[in-house]
Parts: sequence; structure tokens; C-alpha cells
Amino acid sequence: MIFQTTKEFATQLDREDPLREYRTRFHIPHRDEKVVIYFCGNSLGLMPKTTKEYLNKELDIWKRDGVLGNHSRWEPYHEHVTEATARLVGADPTEVVVMNALTVNIHLLLVSFYQPTEEKYKIIIEKGAFPSDQYAVESQIKFHGLDPDSALVILEPRTGERCLRTEDIVNKLKEHGDTVSTILIGGVNYNTGQAFDMAKITETGQEHGAKVGFDLAHAVGNLPLNLHEWGVDFAAWCSYKYLCAGPGSPGGIFIHERHGNWNGPRFNGWWGHDKDTRFNMSPDFIPIKGAEGWQISNAPIFGLACLRSSMDIINHIGISALRAKSEKLTAYMEYLLVQLNNSLDIITPSDPAQRGCQLSVVMKNSGKQVFEKLKEKNVICDWREPDVIRLAPKPLYNSFSEVYEFVEILRSIQQDR
Ligand SMILES: *Cc1c(COP(=O)(O)O)cnc(C)c1O
Repeated sequence: MIFQTTKEFATQLDREDPLREYRTRFHIPHRDEKVVIYFCGNSLGLMPKTTKEYLNKELDIWKRDGVLGNHSRWEPYHEHVTEATARLVGADPTEVVVMNALTVNIHLLLVSFYQPTEEKYKIIIEKGAFPSDQYAVESQIKFHGLDPDSALVILEPRTGERCLRTEDIVNKLKEHGDTVSTILIGGVNYNTGQAFDMAKITETGQEHGAKVGFDLAHAVGNLPLNLHEWGVDFAAWCSYKYLCAGPGSPGGIFIHERHGNWNGPRFNGWWGHDKDTRFNMSPDFIPIKGAEGWQISNAPIFGLACLRSSMDIINHIGISALRAKSEKLTAYMEYLLVQLNNSLDIITPSDPAQRGCQLSVVMKNSGKQVFEKLKEKNVICDWREPDVIRLAPKPLYNSFSEVYEFVEILRSIQQDR
């Protein structure tokens, strides 16, 4: 696509956008009675206008029926989002379940998929992984009586580079080869916005007998995923970023079909027990086959109701149409930023196959001040120390005109300085 720098061109792109109506289905935040330009949907997705209705319905049933609502209605409630979730990540419905928060799920999955032995004990993660993932992995290593200094391998970009090269990842996996027990990498790195070649990483890791998992917090709802076909062993994600399910709403996990009849280590709870006999309350644990066997507790219905409202929208559009708009929207932002002047570097890869919607930008000077000025002018993005401004134009509700407006605001900030 050939872009132009005019305002009219942005308007035209909006007119031609088949998803333009979806913006009206979300509450766009206001400040000082002005609609903000919200590029922070990678941190907290906006609220669908239907969410209250979905949530109120469950609150009303609780209010009216008490426990009478429970067994008939809420026991299988998480199943309402299973099919749409499976479609979104490229899985069979038996391979996914929505439960718990993300870091909790990472721990539960590592209980199963990190079983170090004397020869095979290392975990590989990427440098600059989300801190919570890093803490989880280190504490899992220590939990097994091992030392992160020898058991934790960190993939680092080359000197002077911010992103990892697939060839370097592959070589590192080969170098550590059969000593690697588990690989856990972000599908998209939260800081640089780089999307990793999950198929290649999975293939290489498994050639050496490693279990390969992904943290998809920044990938789910952002990129098309094919977890089953790629042969990924396990994955986890949260729902409040790209999936717009609201703060603290439950995340999801993927367990490949080949692990469906799991009898290795796992932390069990009654919600993972065979559904037909769960309420016999027998002391013998009979697991549900597939991902649902990893459930421990009964599900958080109110968070699930919120998730259901947003998944209905996302599922209605489908990830291919979302991605098609997303590639265009992000490429347009990239184009305008490059046209603007040379005051900034975009550290996110320019290859669309290696990124989702996010662009991470480093200002050549006074980045923090520029960020603060943007905020004053109602552009909501975020700042990551020491020098990164993250911008996430989201195809669900952001428009081409907003991208245009944002770049004009950035231009005016720079001219004032
Ligand atoms: C957002 C995010 C988290 C947050 O974890 P919670 O357990 O949901 O608080 C963890 N890991 C990554 C990669 C994230 O992007």
C-alpha cells in the first residue's frame, strides 16, 4: 500500500475501513471533555458497551436466585468462551481453557512442563521478558533446588541491537541442546513489540527434546496464531490487554492435544475433576482430558461475563480481518513517523511478520518529556524506562485519523521545543 501524508488520505482510509463501525461498540475514554487518542490497548483494552449488560445479567441472577443459579448456570460458564478462544489461538476446543490470572497459569504450567533432571534442567527465556515471567521462572528453578545462574539461559540481542534474530535464537537453542528442559518465550515481546517465529522456535526446541511454551499476553487477539499446527506444548495469556475483558479478568491456557491424557506432575483441584462425577465428592481424582484438567478452582463468573462480551465482538470480526486492518494501521503509523523527521527511532521490526500492532519508539532526546506532553494533549500511550514510548493502534477501535492526529500532535510538540 502506498500512503500519503495528507489529512484527507487518513479520512479516506477510514472510509474504506470495513471495521470502522466497531469503534462505536466501545467506550472511548474522555479527559477534560475531550475524547482521548487511546494507544494503550496493549496494556488495558477498552470496555465494550455491552459489557455492563453481560455482567449485570449474572449479578441479577445471583441477587435473585442465590445458589439456585449456581449448578445449572455457572458450573459450565467458562465453556461459553471456549470455542471462540480455540479459534483465536488456532486450537481444538479441548486444548484450551479460560482460568486464573496469567502468572498463576505460568506457574501451574511450569509445574507440569518444567521437570528438570540432572542432564536436562535449563529454561530458556528472552532478555527483557516481562518481569513477572522472569520472577516466575527463577522461582520455579529455585523450587527444584537449582541455581538460576546455571539453569536460566537468556537470549540476548546482538550488541547494538534491540531485537532478537531468529537465527540467533535457533543457534542458542542448538548450543544448549539436550540440556534444555523448557523454553518459555513471549509470542510478542511487550517492550520492543517484536513477534517471534513461534513455529521455528517450537520445531528447534522439540528437536532437542525440550518442552516449548509461549506467553501470549501480547500476541493473543493481536496476531493470528496456530498453536496446534505449530505443535506448541503449552501457552498462557491474559485477557485484559488485547481481549478487552477488563482488569483482572481470567486468562487462558493452551495444552497441546498430545498432552491431553496427562499423568505427569500437576497441581490438582476439584474443577479439573471429571464433570459427570465432580459432585460425588469422592477423594479419588479423575482428571478431565485436555486443558480443562488443569483447572483448580471454580471459575470467576463476573470476569468471565466481561470476557464473554468482548469475545463476542472479536469472534464476530475474526482474527484475519482484524489482522488485515492492523497491518495497514501500524504500517500507516510507521510511514507517518518516518516522514515526520529524524528525531526518533522505531525499534519494533519493520517487517510486518515480526510485529503485531505495537510500535515502540525511542526519541533521540527528551523522550520522557515528549511522552508527558503527549499525555497533556490527550494522547494515551505508555512509557517504559529507560527510553521507550509504546504505541498500540488497535484495529478494534482505533482509526487512521487518530494516527494522523497523533503524528500532528507529535510534530507540534517538537516544534514547541
Ligand atoms: C501483562 C503481562 C503479565 C501480567 O501478568 P498477570 O499475572 O496477569 O498480572 C505477565 N506476563 C506478560 C508477558 C505480560 O505482558
